[in-house]
Amino acid sequence: MAIEIDKLHEASGPMTTIAPGRLIVISGPSGVGKTTICQALRGRGRIVRSVSATTRAPRPGEAHGRDYFFLKREEFIAKRDAKGFLEWAEYAGNLYGTPKDFVQEQTKDGNFPLLEIEVQGVVQLRQQGWPGIYVFIAPPSIDDLRTRLEKRGNMPPEVIARRIKVAEEELKHRELYDFTVVNDTIDRALAEVLDILDKKLKKE
Ligand code: 5GP
Repeated sequence: MAIEIDKLHEASGPMTTIAPGRLIVISGPSGVGKTTICQALRGRGRIVRSVSATTRAPRPGEAHGRDYFFLKREEFIAKRDAKGFLEWAEYAGNLYGTPKDFVQEQTKDGNFPLLEIEVQGVVQLRQQGWPGIYVFIAPPSIDDLRTRLEKRGNMPPEVIARRIKVAEEELKHRELYDFTVVNDTIDRALAEVLDILDKKLKKE
């Protein structure tokens, strides 16, 4: 059964149709290891990764259509204004959004779209009332997160400082999520996420 919600949808527009309970939403501060966790989840139990659109420049090794759809700001805004995103947000000076058509198609086909998105997007999904599994990946501490970002070696200190500030804000919104998983070691955190999802996916 699919639900149709036309009045609730400020961000995503009318007549959005998504089978209930099929969204998997994973958030967490930049550098917390959520991308590693999401990569490990792909292809398991009908989980399909949602590829977001963004206005940020590609990083080395990133490919258009695989990691993100890299759009010019005006292209992004046109798609947003045409209600092409399920949710969207401005994060660290760039725009990010979840293309609505992909999520609709996948849920119709019985798959579970995996959205790796930041907190403002989750606020919108919650306001719109989408049922799903919402998981927050937290660092053991802010100091631990700072060390992880520094070790990446590809961000100037001011970018790290900005991301830490954002992370502190994000940590305040954990109540939006059904589960918080602390990434102390990646193997343990992944096992915990799989355990959470397995219970849900097995029921389907
Ligand atoms: P990055 O630039 O490091 O790839 O991503 C920055 C932040 O944007 C991350 O927290 C990532 O999860 C989030 N993000 C990526 N795609 C989307 C999206 O479609 N919507 C929202 N709200 N956040 C996104």
